[in-house]
Amino acid sequence: MTAEPPECGRCGQAGILSARVPHHLVNARNETLRGTGIVVLCPRCDMGQPEAGPLIAWFTDLKR
Ligand SMILES: [Zn+2]
Repeated sequence: MTAEPPECGRCGQAGILSARVPHHLVNARNETLRGTGIVVLCPRCDMGQPEAGPLIAWFTDLKR
């Protein structure tokens, strides 16, 4: 956890939060690779997502 807002990998501007989430990738030999990736919640890129919109509104309310 850092004090700086996470940078959104899509628009390059400040996101609201980042989370480390597990992901499973299947490689060419059909082996499952387990790992984690960072997902950034961005008020500009994700506002149109039905699941993300209310979450963004909630976090935006908290900052007031
Ligand atoms: Zn963005």
